[in-house]
Amino acid sequence: MNQLLITAGRILLGPSSTHIDDGAVLVSGDTIVAAGARNDVLAHTEPGCQVMEFPDATVLPGLIDCHVHLAFDAGPDPVTTLTDSDDAALLLGMAGRAQQLLDAGITTARDLGDRGGLSVRLRDAISEGAVAGPRILAATAPLTTPKGHCWFLGGEVEGDKEIRHKVRQNAEGGADVIKVMATGGGLTRGGPSIWQPQFTTEELTVVVEEAHRLGLPVAAHAHGVQGIAAAITAGVDTIEHCSWMTEEGTSDLREDLLAQIIAKQIHVCLANHPNWRAFADRVGPEKAAELFAPTRRMAESGVQLVAGTDAGIPRAFFGGLISSLEFFEHLGVPRHRIIDMATINAASALRLSIQTGRLAAGCRADILVVNGDPLAGLDALRAVQLVLAGGRLHIPDSAALSWAQQRPASAEQADFCG
Ligand SMILES: [Zn+2]
Repeated sequence: MNQLLITAGRILLGPSSTHIDDGAVLVSGDTIVAAGARNDVLAHTEPGCQVMEFPDATVLPGLIDCHVHLAFDAGPDPVTTLTDSDDAALLLGMAGRAQQLLDAGITTARDLGDRGGLSVRLRDAISEGAVAGPRILAATAPLTTPKGHCWFLGGEVEGDKEIRHKVRQNAEGGADVIKVMATGGGLTRGGPSIWQPQFTTEELTVVVEEAHRLGLPVAAHAHGVQGIAAAITAGVDTIEHCSWMTEEGTSDLREDLLAQIIAKQIHVCLANHPNWRAFADRVGPEKAAELFAPTRRMAESGVQLVAGTDAGIPRAFFGGLISSLEFFEHLGVPRHRIIDMATINAASALRLSIQTGRLAAGCRADILVVNGDPLAGLDALRAVQLVLAGGRLHIPDSAALSWAQQRPASAEQADFCG
């Protein structure tokens, strides 16, 4: 198997609190052979090794978006677009959006709700190499109440028996994770309000019991305080949104519940909209600071926060992950911690920490090369030069253009380093 050596001015192995100047990562097939200081890595190269050099760039683990909906098109009305599309059209759109994720340096994406198990079909097509895209973890149809949040995706259940049946059905359909709508949500016309719980604590416990019995984690969509409390007691693995909404439309972060989230090591994915700045501008700086306070508190408290975008909902475009991450920069979270949220910590939340989220021998070759230094400014993460997803090389069109202009053909082509 031919080796590929990527060298860069800087390497973040993960966690990102430390970096190495003049780094390199060596790949064989879909696996990392070695990563670290260039001279140490060079010792592992074999004759015939291909070399790609990026002296002005940073190489880091491929990014992870823990919350996307490939079945939604991020247009003004993704629900109508979905319900008006047949499966073939929907799957084609999903494949295009998976490629947009890859263009943005995302090598793993967790899809938290589709229709008809299409994300499983796309996941398998990507892993077989038929379609370009990130590794996908698929939830398939989220469990919800009759006419509850996202009922149109096909996951309506009522009572324990139907809950167990739906969890088993999703598992048999190839789901990697069980998604449950613990509260209402904004996307569903006529459904419960986002603060309202949809299931009792006992019902959520049945979801978790059945999923864990089948070896699957549970992701709970929960905006309202009551739904968050029920999800914690039920023992879910990740809480999505966690916006602490009350009936009055304010947010009420409960310190007792926060302590439980930390003690139970539940990961929280805010799935905050990439266009959060427009929202902040609309409500004004004072109101924005008030609404962002719970997130600031969670970030300070030691909760394991992970990156997500809710890509697919209106104007949450695929590849908006960096904009979502900049929200945490705005709140004063150190950049190395933010990068960890989208790499090593996200991998841990998704039970993938053995395989991805860091650059180390034996890990899957999920690698991102960006111009500049993301530790000096997250904006550098937008300057994607090269993506390796499971060892498969992907160069975004934007980078291909700058390569053609800047690099002599010989610079990126095969060389001997062994
Ligand atoms: Zn969502």
